[in-house]
Amino acid sequence: MLIVQKYGGSSVANTERIFNVANRIIEYYKQGHDVIVVLSAQGDTTDDLIEKVKEISKSPSKREMDMLLSTGEQQSVALMAIALTEMGYPCISLNAAQVGMITTADYGNARIKKIKTERIKREIERKNIVLVTGFQGINNFDDITTLGRGGSDTTAVAIAAALHADKCEIYTDVDGVYTADPRVVKNARKIKEITYHEMLELASLGAKVLHNRSVELAKKYNVELVVRSSLTKAEGTIVKGGFNMEKMSVSGIAGDDKVARVALIGIDDTPGKAFEVFNALAKGNINVDLIIQSIGHEGKKDISFTIDTDALEDTKKIINNNIDRLGVKVVDFEQDLAKVSIVGAGMATDAGVASSMFEAMFDAHINIHMISTSDIKISILVNKADMKKAMCALHDKFALQY
Ligand code: ASP
Ligand code: MG
Repeated sequence: MLIVQKYGGSSVANTERIFNVANRIIEYYKQGHDVIVVLSAQGDTTDDLIEKVKEISKSPSKREMDMLLSTGEQQSVALMAIALTEMGYPCISLNAAQVGMITTADYGNARIKKIKTERIKREIERKNIVLVTGFQGINNFDDITTLGRGGSDTTAVAIAAALHADKCEIYTDVDGVYTADPRVVKNARKIKEITYHEMLELASLGAKVLHNRSVELAKKYNVELVVRSSLTKAEGTIVKGGFNMEKMSVSGIAGDDKVARVALIGIDDTPGKAFEVFNALAKGNINVDLIIQSIGHEGKKDISFTIDTDALEDTKKIINNNIDRLGVKVVDFEQDLAKVSIVGAGMATDAGVASSMFEAMFDAHINIHMISTSDIKISILVNKADMKKAMCALHDKFALQY
């Protein structure tokens, strides 16, 4: 079997952890498998490097940032190779240039275009354990790029796809994907299997177990992923395609407590106004999430939308610059809101889910400000102070029925 394993920064944070991972790698190697291991930078290395730069410059060159940040992963693979050699196992560490991990030119957020597989294949044939730097690539100018924070997951999935690996295991410091954040919902439980689609929704809703792009890539190339802990033998969560007919409607609950709402009251009820609002926001690079528009009366209507609280100041500026043009009467900005979502692939065919969700909020005396639905999730906007209560109530309503 060809196995790709990825170990995150916390899994290789210190010498003890490095040997712990080395032992896990050896376990597979000794069973006769070919093993490719992708590593992240140790512990907080990447953050520490960013802090160092802040002492020097407020606007460092993106190219030089990637040159710097990529060093963390290079340390990890070399240290792991030294550990495995010390333990008597053949191995080699490779960085992105040596592997031929070709990306677009966008420093700090590069996308993988192609992986030249020859070098890795040659090393595997030599029976080496191959240790590859996560997170980094190389562009057409032969410069080092990085894939964005948390990008090592994406490196691992890309390698698994390119080499048609039999298994792609993502090792982290939690033992899988949970029905809700266990720090918020005490009785949250580990999910055995989840679809790519559900995982993508949960990830974009704030369950940060996997790099979003890694799941997109896994879905595209049908790479089955296992998310598990490097510290225990627990089985983890399988992320895969398909659809389990017996599955419950709701798989997971996510909460995001950094939500602000903007209400534009009394906009001219003429064609093109919504376009004007959201075009101005898009030009300012503001990501808009939930949107509601009222039916309107007397030639006026209302539009409200939510944004990340970090984007509130920029949004205020953009809206205030456009108030006259839009014919807006009143603008209202509100912070301290939270988005709570239920996600599940079985939801589309289960008519009662939305009603159960609202019933749970009613029973818990939680007021809902906005609602948005799709075939795989329902999101509601509530007061930030109600988020935890809402998540627990929904977890009880749905997840405990497993
Ligand atoms: N070391 C990088 C980061 O901290 C990449 C990764 O961890 O996947 O973002
Ligand atoms: Mg990291």
